[in-house]
Amino acid sequence: MAASPPTSVTCPVCGVVLSNEMELGEHKEVHAEQRAEGESTTAIHGCAFCPAKFRTPEELRDHHRVAHNR
Ligand SMILES: [Zn+2]
Ligand SMILES: [Zn+2]
Repeated sequence: MAASPPTSVTCPVCGVVLSNEMELGEHKEVHAEQRAEGESTTAIHGCAFCPAKFRTPEELRDHHRVAHNR
């Protein structure tokens, strides 16, 4: 039996190497937040716990639940 090759994956955005698809998925959230920050010109609902900003109170509420468990 041939040894199975390493299943490492590379982030297409920053090139960092992660050990599997699941880690890549978690890592990509970093870039999702960075993108949201870059498009914040029309965002007016700022998070009280981090620099994230959102266009609607619903998005802010979702962010609180997902990112801060509130
Ligand atoms: Zn990356
Ligand atoms: Zn936040």
